[in-house]
Amino acid sequence: MDYETAWRRSVDEPEAFWGEQARLIHWDTPPQRILDDSEPPFRRWFVGGTTNLCHNAIDRHLDARPDQLAIVAVSTETGITREITYRELHREVNTFAASLQELGVGKGDRVVIYMPNIAEAVFAMLACARLGAIHSVVFGGFAAHNLALRIDDAEPALLICADAGMRGGKVIPYKPLVDAALREAKAAPPRVLIVRRGLDPDMDTVPGRDVDYATLRAKHADAHVPVIWLESNEPSYLLYTSGTTGRPKGVQRDVGGYAVALALSMTTIFDLQPGQTILCTSDVGWAVGHSYNVYGPLIGGCTAILYEGLPTGPDPGIWWRLCETYGVRTMFSSPTGIRVLKKQDAEWLKKYDLSALKWIFLAGEPLDQPTYAWLSEGTGKTVIDNYWQTETGWPALSLMPGLDLKPVKPGSPGFPTFGYRMRVIDEATGEEKAPGEKGVLVIEPPLPPGCLTTIWRDDERYRRSYFGHFKTLLYSSLDWAVRDADGYYFILGRTDDVINVAGHRLGTREIEESVATLGAVAEVAVVGVTDELKGQVPAVFATVKQGVTDDPRDVAQAMERRVVELLGGVARPGCVYVVPALPKTRSGKLLRRSLQALMQGTDPGDLSTLDDPNALEDIRRAIARGPHCGARQAP
Ligand code: AMP
Repeated sequence: MDYETAWRRSVDEPEAFWGEQARLIHWDTPPQRILDDSEPPFRRWFVGGTTNLCHNAIDRHLDARPDQLAIVAVSTETGITREITYRELHREVNTFAASLQELGVGKGDRVVIYMPNIAEAVFAMLACARLGAIHSVVFGGFAAHNLALRIDDAEPALLICADAGMRGGKVIPYKPLVDAALREAKAAPPRVLIVRRGLDPDMDTVPGRDVDYATLRAKHADAHVPVIWLESNEPSYLLYTSGTTGRPKGVQRDVGGYAVALALSMTTIFDLQPGQTILCTSDVGWAVGHSYNVYGPLIGGCTAILYEGLPTGPDPGIWWRLCETYGVRTMFSSPTGIRVLKKQDAEWLKKYDLSALKWIFLAGEPLDQPTYAWLSEGTGKTVIDNYWQTETGWPALSLMPGLDLKPVKPGSPGFPTFGYRMRVIDEATGEEKAPGEKGVLVIEPPLPPGCLTTIWRDDERYRRSYFGHFKTLLYSSLDWAVRDADGYYFILGRTDDVINVAGHRLGTREIEESVATLGAVAEVAVVGVTDELKGQVPAVFATVKQGVTDDPRDVAQAMERRVVELLGGVARPGCVYVVPALPKTRSGKLLRRSLQALMQGTDPGDLSTLDDPNALEDIRRAIARGPHCGARQAP
């Protein structure tokens, strides 16, 4: 079938289209109704059907492919590679599930997982899914405060962590961060399950609370734990993401819709049949990691390579070497990952046999032309940009080489995928923009299967943050976009105060709030500025309280340290400026966009509402002098 016919059917006849796709997965009880759209903006897919993500990811394949590799967990940090077949994965996940049961975890309980990109993180996720427990994986790069916020929102029955991760040869202990988070959290779980990798022999344990997984693993080595069948719309997992306030949003995913959407995407978008291999360089802590390191490939009967390490470690050929060794057909990475490689010798792209590799997908942030050209010319492979959000759970805009590949237009993630009826509309009037005109990218409800069902325990916030922007009920992506005359979409950045650092979404408010916890700081504004490697980095502008006489460089360094301490290395500011005043309107609103424009050397816009016209001049001078902390040059 061609793309246009399939896509049109998916939006014009959603029940017929998705009813057929439902057959891609196993149901214990078939759905009684394909779509219940009676209470928009909420919608329910495959109503009454019961299924289980773990069963579809593992048990369903045991007859056809027990000895095929399911997960290859490669760590260039520890030097260990683990090749795990579907049969072995089944055993490990049953053992893990039995261990969770012993700790009292059951259906509907939340389990926070704070682990590096290792096989046990996958076992833990699948074990939760098997039991109908709701996992919430928190990216290992987040610091204790971030973890505490997520714990308080999810109110977990258990936290699972590793003793440590590693990055660039350095051990990063996780357990002290967990301990700090649990001291800060109001809803600390009674138990912590620890996977000891032997990386932190001096790790402290809390008697009565901390449990060593090795003991439970030995005890439940032969366990068989029946799957718990869940109604299609029950929650499978929560994944927190940044919004415009300091409080992260718990994106809630369902079971049946997610499984069906992933199964369909594996063949049509990622062009992968059972038995084929995908290398996804994401981390299980992100949406891409959930969908294409774990659930998508396994539901599709594929082999997934999980990678712990730097793109350049031990050398910049590592990803291509993995492609050769495991016959990778589809690779999925991010523009930042490729920009890291681009700084290295291009000869690394030629060293390995990439004959099995067909497609390189990149997502998470805008794909710039030089990076696209370097990768596609250097490898000779088709590079496919795809656009999605934590909320969508799978690509919303992409080309579909598994169906029919349209010509690549560099800079464009292509066309809407199944079930996405998209429009580009005027921010103020809500009217449709003409081809070539910039507007806000919106999705007409019902959202397709796989997208978030709500924000955890906050239906009102779901309604308000996504559907409250226009007179009619439309999901706002909060991204600017343009559609060209051929129907290709181009994404032009966020409409809100969210920035994208190395493909990861960060709320500038979260960073401002952490800087503001320093006693010396009076006011602070954070904006995203272009960075050659990471796409964007946070730039911090702050004023100090009257009477503070410390050297501005010391204050700036303290701000940087505080952000890393509270939010983690992902949020590390690229530059910090201590300035006399921040630009504000007469009504006191911070003019972040003017700050951003000054940083980028572009027009700061209409300044007639400015309270103190000198403020911008002072900032212009501060930028020209260079930051008090960080390496950024003046534009
Ligand atoms: P996250 O939820 O962290 O995956 O971030 C989603 C945001 O990343 C989107 O709202 C976009 O701003 C940005 N994004 C994701 N994919 C792309 C892409 N292919 N091109 C441009 N921006 C993208």
